[in-house]
Amino acid sequence: MSARVLVVDDILANVKLLEAKLTAEYFEVLTALNGQDALDIIEKDQPDIVLLDVMMPGMDGFEVCQKIKSNPNTTHIPVVMVTALDQPSDRVAGIEAGADDFLTKPVNDVALMARVRSLVRLKIMMDELRMRETTGRNMGITDDTDILSGELSGKGHILLVEDREHSAKRMMETLGPTNEIRLEKDVQNALVAAKGGDFDLVIVDLSTEVFDGLRLCSQLRSTDVTRHVPILVLTEDGDMDQLVRALDIGVNDYLMRPIDRNELFARVKTQLRRKLYADKLRQNYHLSLEMAVTDQLTGLYNRHYMSSHLTTLMSNSAENNKSMSFVIVDVDFFKSVNDTYGHDIGDEVLKEFATRLASNVRGVDLACRYGGEEFVVVMPDTDLSFAYMVAERLRQEVAEKPFKVGGTELNLTISIGLAISEGENDTPEALLRRADQALYRAKRDGRNRVVADAA
Ligand code: GH3
Ligand code: MG
Ligand code: MG
Repeated sequence: MSARVLVVDDILANVKLLEAKLTAEYFEVLTALNGQDALDIIEKDQPDIVLLDVMMPGMDGFEVCQKIKSNPNTTHIPVVMVTALDQPSDRVAGIEAGADDFLTKPVNDVALMARVRSLVRLKIMMDELRMRETTGRNMGITDDTDILSGELSGKGHILLVEDREHSAKRMMETLGPTNEIRLEKDVQNALVAAKGGDFDLVIVDLSTEVFDGLRLCSQLRSTDVTRHVPILVLTEDGDMDQLVRALDIGVNDYLMRPIDRNELFARVKTQLRRKLYADKLRQNYHLSLEMAVTDQLTGLYNRHYMSSHLTTLMSNSAENNKSMSFVIVDVDFFKSVNDTYGHDIGDEVLKEFATRLASNVRGVDLACRYGGEEFVVVMPDTDLSFAYMVAERLRQEVAEKPFKVGGTELNLTISIGLAISEGENDTPEALLRRADQALYRAKRDGRNRVVADAA
């Protein structure tokens, strides 16, 4: 995994040292000697991660970090503060400024590489989500402009995996007032709980002999339902080996013992806020997926989806020697509805018709709006006589039950063409053509009727 790293430090020797280490690991390195240059480079070159010195003349590291994190174009870029300070209060100040992690000078190489890799990996995942979200927004589908202002309302749901009474008690005291915490003292139970509960964060103690916390982390990452849940681990100070493994597995953040309450609180808050952001991105993505396959007016599947899916449905039924019916419906003289009552009433009629259509077919049938006032139903595992029965029932229901829209009652009829798939040599185009020809005959023969393809 390669990535572009920006190193910021006012002392050239420090920059050179980090640059050499990172280049040796095949990272691409950008450098800046002060805060303003760093911000310019970040805006222009979009690095994957920033290693930021704290003490710099002029704008200090905290301020630079705050600026990066409050700009919507750069807020997703991870920032690691590289600092000679190692008081918990400094770390808390940094986390409050939005920093993702801290490395203490002199920088330990193993810790540096592990953390850079882990943060870049997390960023790549978020970039993918952000990209989809941007596409949805450009398509005019999702419009959540304040997606970044993820202020935490309500309590975070946290699963705490910890067997030490005393430590558990202290953490509950710190996090309890603003979160809902479930405590598990055993990894098996913890895994079951994580799979079943909708947690915003899992905190795992890695410094206990009683259970294998690392294994739990790895299980959480490899299980579908828990793959995205943020994990914060607690490690023994100095156990670099364990920390590196945890980061490689994909944990999001860590705390070293002895645990500082304020730092715990700040890191938990950061993870919860990010989870909220990622959830929103995912939600918007699903929404845009849904919108991409459904027709806006009627909520039925759209033509694009039907066409893509039809090929699969046809080859499935050919493989299994099943017949599949294809029904095409066209509203009779619909143009005159628009001409007489206006386009809006026309829209209402189409909606009402879509509802009737959907309630007249089975769950396995694929009902879609093919375009304008034409609809299609694909019926897997269905022979022509059953399809005819369904189509005839629908035709009658439309003809006999007036449409109540815009304060008036409209009498409407529909014409329907039917065709059936004919084994493995049949194609979607040919099937559609046969159904279309049947529909054409229904129109020609006087409308308000169902005609099946002659073949
Ligand atoms: P036929 O019985 O031969 O099908 O006559 P028709 O008037 O239904 O057929 P034609 O294809 O000539 O007209 C279809 C009309 O459907 C024309 C168009 O204005 C209208 N239409 C297509 N899409 C929409 C829509 O989304 N909303 C509304 N209100 N009307 C639509
Ligand atoms: Mg038409
Ligand atoms: Mg029509």
